[in-house]
Amino acid sequence: MSQDSFNKGGISVKTEHIFPVIKKWLYSEKDIFLREIVSNASDAITKLKRLASLGEIDLSEEELSSFRINVTLDKDAGTLTVSDNGIGMSEDELKKYLCNIALSGALDFIAKYEGENENESGIIGHFGLGFYSSFMVSDKVEVNTKAFDGSPAVRWICGEDGEYEISAGDRDSFGTDVIMYISDAEKEYLDAAKIKSILNKFCSFMPVEIFFTDTAEEKKEDEEEHAINETLPLYLKRPSECTEEEYNEFYHKVFGDFRDPLFYIHINADYPLNFKGILYFPKIENEYQSIEGQVKLYYNQVFVADNIKEVIPEYLLMLKGVLDCPQLPLNVSRSYLQTNTYVSKVSAHIVKKVADKLNSLCSGDREKYNSVFENIKTFIEYACIRDRKFYDRVKDSILFPLCDSSYKTMSEYLDEVKAAGFENKLFYASDKEIQSQYISLFEAKKIPVIYMPQMIDTQFASTLEQYGDGISFMRVDADNSGVLSSKDSEDNSEALTELFKKISGNDKLTLKLADLDGSEIPAIINVSEESRRFNDMMKMYSMGGSGMDIPVDTSLVINTSSPIYEKLKVADDEALARYVYSLALLSYRKLTSDEMNSFIKESVEILKKI
Ligand code: ADP
Repeated sequence: MSQDSFNKGGISVKTEHIFPVIKKWLYSEKDIFLREIVSNASDAITKLKRLASLGEIDLSEEELSSFRINVTLDKDAGTLTVSDNGIGMSEDELKKYLCNIALSGALDFIAKYEGENENESGIIGHFGLGFYSSFMVSDKVEVNTKAFDGSPAVRWICGEDGEYEISAGDRDSFGTDVIMYISDAEKEYLDAAKIKSILNKFCSFMPVEIFFTDTAEEKKEDEEEHAINETLPLYLKRPSECTEEEYNEFYHKVFGDFRDPLFYIHINADYPLNFKGILYFPKIENEYQSIEGQVKLYYNQVFVADNIKEVIPEYLLMLKGVLDCPQLPLNVSRSYLQTNTYVSKVSAHIVKKVADKLNSLCSGDREKYNSVFENIKTFIEYACIRDRKFYDRVKDSILFPLCDSSYKTMSEYLDEVKAAGFENKLFYASDKEIQSQYISLFEAKKIPVIYMPQMIDTQFASTLEQYGDGISFMRVDADNSGVLSSKDSEDNSEALTELFKKISGNDKLTLKLADLDGSEIPAIINVSEESRRFNDMMKMYSMGGSGMDIPVDTSLVINTSSPIYEKLKVADDEALARYVYSLALLSYRKLTSDEMNSFIKESVEILKKI
């Protein structure tokens, strides 16, 4: 027969060449064969339904209500069968569709992807080789079909070499059975659990009910049949028709997470974007690194892939959700997706919807927003670091947690600080316990302190500084004497400065005097924000720094309102100075074991004198 050779644009391809290519190229995602065969069955039913609804054909009530797809595993026979009661094929159609199948698609496919990364085939999806992907797992495929128009049933049997035979079929009602004879090398596809999990992954939302039968499993009488899929998934409904319980239930089911999500966004983008989906904010308690979201992408209710970062910005991938983009050109490579304007519009739309949701929660239900913020903070910070546009959209809804456990937006915070006399400054602490002395000094001055314990918080702070609204962040233990006291000055007592330089072992130490109103603490340590950040960065990249070092640009601020100051001034008392320094160090950071030992020794000496 001549069907084994095809022509297009002068290149002749023989089926015996195509088959090995199919096997090779689809190797990394063999499971998709079942998605392809089941979607063909679903398409065949949809086509028939459409004809019925257009009045082109007459179907009985019973026929109209019994559309279904059966997936049957027969381990003994070594077959996996997908049957539908859809439109079916006449002999001519069968020859047209299955014997010349998608050759042009196949050629394009080979031309495009030869030499590209094999893993990419995971997202290639629909490239018009659908039916033939059954040969990835079968050494023989049989199609038994009867068209809805009454033409005689036909049977087509094709081996893995592409040789086929057509004969009279024995189906007596319209529809199609595709019987795949699983090859020895792919025996795993005769495992019921494997087939069920593939169906769950790819076919969960297909529009026609799918029933799975394992012939090895005895069927109990009266046992109710359950379709493995949901034919009208929640995301296809109108948001106004969905309840909170339904959203939560959908989330539990699709993501196997028993906790409720924090909130969700139902996206229903009309023409021209034309995609639907639900995105959930899951409960997140730890830092970004440990968060793994899952955004599942569908094409007309058929699962295509997880987490395609060309479609969903990478920083939103920590969300969970489903997106159905029937317009997405999924039959193309990742590089195409990256430059495709439709894809970037979808992505921008998603970003906008997420930002809108945050803004509406913040302005509409501040109490709830405050209560979930801890969980979404890391996500928002990360997203703002990654995308300036996202920051611009949500900046009024970013909350800063304060040390007193309340939350303030940036403008609320800046207003309060302004009332205390400071413009565009944000003061923060990274450790509530260690920096408690400083925090109380600030709070005494009615200056709220932001709590930023995580690494990403400080990265976020420097990003906001770069975004350039003129704001700057300062840690409570940075150069704060000017903030805490209106009367600060560099001490001119040479002797005292020398003494503290000696005690601290830091000959660059600056001595300052400040009136820390009403505080008992005799002295505090200040390290300039800049040099501390530099030091932290060095530590992060492990470029030295023991972690206990006090960086350069350090000053010791002596509290002139403390009675100890008077004592320090009059006597050249090294023991007293040493003790004052230890107290300052103690409220600045954890002591090393040597420092702790000498601090205890010094304390005991003092106790002895009481
Ligand atoms: P695609 O589905 O992308 O068109 P396929 O290779 O999967 O490519 O199928 C080719 C054609 O074969 C389909 O377009 C359809 O006309 C026909 N076909 C495949 N499976 C069935 C089926 N179960 N019932 C009716 N027609 C089918």
